[in-house]
Amino acid sequence: MMQNWVIGNWKMNLDIAAATDLAQGIIDYAKQTPQAKLVLCPSFVFLPQIASQLQNSGIGLGAQDVSEYTEGAYTGQISANMLKYCGCGYVIIGHSERRALCGETDAVIVQKCLAAQNAGLVPILCVGETQSEFEAGSTEAVVSRQLEAVLNSNKLNLKEFMLAYEPVWAIGTGLSATPEQAQGVHHLLRGGLARYDAQLATRIPILYGGSVKPSNAQSLFAQADINGALVGGASLNAELFCGIVAAANE
Ligand code: PEP
Repeated sequence: MMQNWVIGNWKMNLDIAAATDLAQGIIDYAKQTPQAKLVLCPSFVFLPQIASQLQNSGIGLGAQDVSEYTEGAYTGQISANMLKYCGCGYVIIGHSERRALCGETDAVIVQKCLAAQNAGLVPILCVGETQSEFEAGSTEAVVSRQLEAVLNSNKLNLKEFMLAYEPVWAIGTGLSATPEQAQGVHHLLRGGLARYDAQLATRIPILYGGSVKPSNAQSLFAQADINGALVGGASLNAELFCGIVAAANE
């Protein structure tokens, strides 16, 4: 069975003191229970500090976004090589907040995945349907389109790739998909990956994201195709995050 992953997306939260305290709480907890794979994704500006704190902890470091460009006149953007230099091993790409608020299209997201891999970062590709798409019954069509866009590029290395299914209506709302609903979509995504590489598809972690808490984590992780969680709100509190890690370790 694949090891579970728990990834914390801190978004644009915390100051440096709170970020280092939170990281330390998680490091201390993870020392006692090292089974699940953990990754923390702080704000860009905290990456170097958190990277030095995480050294030798076994916990990975990720960024929340990356530029699709390698270098050049792209004011305010951050390249994959810069993230690598800061100690990142992972980067979240195509989060629904970036798709909605920054107008990121599937085409841009493909370029970001490739830029990340070219620099040696593992992309964590987020896919998920909005509330209206969910109500219209188009979940499968939407997530398949979002995944296919990246797979169709035929340049992606599936050995260094992770997927997160995050129904937009479940993010930060307290409403989570039921374990059965989430499993259905994860199974579909696994099938989509298998059309490109049947063997690797069984090894690509597919995480669920959307109001994961200690109270619902265990039932989600019990599903065959759910390999962990991408956590927003609950990742800002060491006790809640570690409660999810405890479920992932079971
Ligand atoms: C997220 O934004 O990736 C997320 C899953 O948020 P939350 O856990 O707060 O729903």
